[in-house]
Amino acid sequence: MARQPLIAGNWKMNLNHLEAIALVQKVAFALPEKYFDKVEVAVLPPFTDLRGVQTLVEGDKLLLRYGAQDVSDQDSGAYTGDVSAPMLAKLGCSYVVVGHSERREHHAETDELINRKARAVLKNDMAPILCVGEQLEVREAGNHVEHCTTQLLNGLKGLKADQVRRTVVAYEPVWAIGTGKVATAEDAQEVCGALRTALADKYGTEVSEEVRVLYGGSVKSSNITELIGQSDIDGGLVGGASLNGDEFAKMSAMA
Ligand code: PEP
Repeated sequence: MARQPLIAGNWKMNLNHLEAIALVQKVAFALPEKYFDKVEVAVLPPFTDLRGVQTLVEGDKLLLRYGAQDVSDQDSGAYTGDVSAPMLAKLGCSYVVVGHSERREHHAETDELINRKARAVLKNDMAPILCVGEQLEVREAGNHVEHCTTQLLNGLKGLKADQVRRTVVAYEPVWAIGTGKVATAEDAQEVCGALRTALADKYGTEVSEEVRVLYGGSVKSSNITELIGQSDIDGGLVGGASLNGDEFAKMSAMA
């Protein structure tokens, strides 16, 4: 079964709600509708921008999807500052990133917590974008495949096959995020291929062939074609370059 490519723009902690609307309009109007048959395009703004993005997307019947960059593992209650999966579902989110390396690093998120977040997302009929990736020293020691596979299987622990099918995996080598140092297409394929094999071993080939595996780390219009040309790379999780509407639309049209 052919997997539909997904280009997802992780805005990180950038853009207020007015700037968010301007960027979504720019991306949507730069991409003729015909592209959306071929590729799924999503933006992942900060929580504070989501309501504005929802109003614009629904009001103008845009074909863009949107989602959040993080979520609580709890449904509701005394968790000051957190945002729950039911709240994000109510805002029309399709995707929620879990396990981004910046959350693993700055918020000490563990595989166990990330797994609970992935479950919360799936329980609320959204798709997690589960990020895995190695630090430079792990790669230099030759342990990158094992490291990423372990993060993947821990993140998916206890999920049923039909939940795994709906999950998007993003391989993001930490040393390539925001550094301008993109992994070579071969290096990215090595890990993405190994992740799919791990999925096949655990959940069967039918499931593993449905799961979309993205690459993230300094993706731009100049390298997207080569990356997405690899047999196990189904799109990109794009950080910095997704803040430029023309560039993000251009790479989405190339996917
Ligand atoms: C990211 O934040 O997920 C990312 C891949 O960032 P960048 O594209 O800026 O490297």
